Amino acid sequence: MRVGLGRDVHRVVLGRRLLLGGVCVSEERGCVAHSDGDCLVHALMDALLGAAALPNVGVLFPCSDEKNRGRDSCEMLREVVEIVYGRGFRLANVDLVVQLETPPVSHFFPMIRDRLAPLLDLDGSAIGLKATTAEGLGPVGGGEAVEVLCVCLLEEKV
Ligand code: MG
Repeated sequence: MRVGLGRDVHRVVLGRRLLLGGVCVSEERGCVAHSDGDCLVHALMDALLGAAALPNVGVLFPCSDEKNRGRDSCEMLREVVEIVYGRGFRLANVDLVVQLETPPVSHFFPMIRDRLAPLLDLDGSAIGLKATTAEGLGPVGGGEAVEVLCVCLLEEKV
């Protein structure tokens, strides 16, 4: 078994959509990013890649590559899953913590789970999702950033 850890932080500004796990949770305030800024998917990809001891998302999908501009992170996730599964692993579970001050997002979790499950070839019951605020502290608490943490467990296919 192999454990992986991923973390991603993005600056939040007015006038962009906020995507989390392929689901739009705000039309008003969203992440600044080279790709579509889906912070949750970025943390998830880094956890998967980390568990397989592969280079991280920034190395795999560099900002310097124009084809990654505005790119759908779910499409990148599928690519990562194929790489990791191709190395002889399968995913046992993932657990995610979304940290943001506003808007409340937990009512989007069933939709996020439904979006991620087929991309991960994983049952929705193995996708943990939690949301927390930073109690007004730091950039997340001030509403200037969104941060997502993810751990995952890979098992070697027998
Ligand atoms: Mg990112």
